[in-house]
Amino acid sequence: MSGMSPSLNSHYSLLLGLQTPWKVTEVSLEMEKSRVVIKVSHDSKKVACPDCGMVSPQRDCAPSRRWRHLDTMNFETIIEALVPRCNCADCGVKTAAVPWAGKHSRLTLMFEAFAIEVLQMAKSLEAGRLLLELSWDAAHAIMERAVERGLSRRDISEVENIGIDEKSFLKGHNYLTALNDLDGGRVLDVVQERTESTCRELIGKALPTLYSRSKIGAAAMDMWPAFRNATEDLLPNASVVYDRFHISGYLGKAVDQVRRSEHKQLLRDGDGILTGSRYSLLRSEHTRTEKHQGVLDEICGRNLKTSRAWAIKESFTSFWESRNKAFGEAVFNDWYGWAVRSQLKPVVKVAKMLKKHLAGLLTYFDYPITNAVSEGLNSKIQSIKASARGFRNFANYRIRILFTCGKLDLVPVFMH
Ligand SMILES: [Zn+2]
Repeated sequence: MSGMSPSLNSHYSLLLGLQTPWKVTEVSLEMEKSRVVIKVSHDSKKVACPDCGMVSPQRDCAPSRRWRHLDTMNFETIIEALVPRCNCADCGVKTAAVPWAGKHSRLTLMFEAFAIEVLQMAKSLEAGRLLLELSWDAAHAIMERAVERGLSRRDISEVENIGIDEKSFLKGHNYLTALNDLDGGRVLDVVQERTESTCRELIGKALPTLYSRSKIGAAAMDMWPAFRNATEDLLPNASVVYDRFHISGYLGKAVDQVRRSEHKQLLRDGDGILTGSRYSLLRSEHTRTEKHQGVLDEICGRNLKTSRAWAIKESFTSFWESRNKAFGEAVFNDWYGWAVRSQLKPVVKVAKMLKKHLAGLLTYFDYPITNAVSEGLNSKIQSIKASARGFRNFANYRIRILFTCGKLDLVPVFMH
């Protein structure tokens, strides 16, 4: 170990942004550990109480403590200090707050701010923590504190349109429900399960004030009674809008069911026209490639049940494109008549379900919102899942989702 020059001490004081009464008293280099230790002391006999701010005489010092700071030229950099204690008349014996770190953290605020950026940019928590040379627990604790900080600063007063969306996780055995701010493109909160009671809990967590709940004008969701009941109960001014992506999902599933049973039948006669056609039939007009189009042309050139089912699914697009609510209703009724006469059981079933929920489909023309934003967030959530290791519980998973998809202001504020 070797001590360094006094000018280096003031150099580090500047780097740390230290102001009186704090100052750097010694900088030493531990070559064998590739480490710089910066000793900082409190150069005053008076100490401010961390709880009430009252200044009183120094009583003694707490045992020496160390904090990890940003590395200096690949040297791990440590701040070491004896932090003074006061005997506050109101609060009792208290250890002074240090300007470079939060209350119980063993990392400096500058290190935490840097670590947050690294963890945000890293592909996974594992990749980020390796870059930072932190343990999984330490990296997770940084995320946890960052999310807590972000949630306490979050402004939800402008949120008007929300999406409620369920997602399977942990190999599809569990569900979570997310409440998303559709205008802000962010996840407000998530809960486990997709029941009415957890959905109520979710609304309470994401929109904690009566005012914020009264501001919600529309909520996009699947045709799921649990979501609808909780929404109607807790969000007095919200119109329920059944989400077009979920609806097209149901129609796509119906086409696939028709395709599968027809495919089996055709194969018995040695006809393989439907082999490998699944994705061509499910693709929307915008994501179809030439190859998909070729498959579709061939199928639609024959009088198949599958081609009829596909045509019914596709024509539902004109419902969403209707000029207004009245036209929308007329388009739906035409479409419905065609669908229920098709004699394709899976298609008839979906058509009847849509008819039953028609009022919530038509609100789309008052509030043209969809869970498209949620779909983008879902794929982000999905990638967290794929790169996640060590999710010991749902609470950890929630932290990761809010850290990545919450658009929170995560970085600590430095005080000097
Ligand atoms: Zn006090």
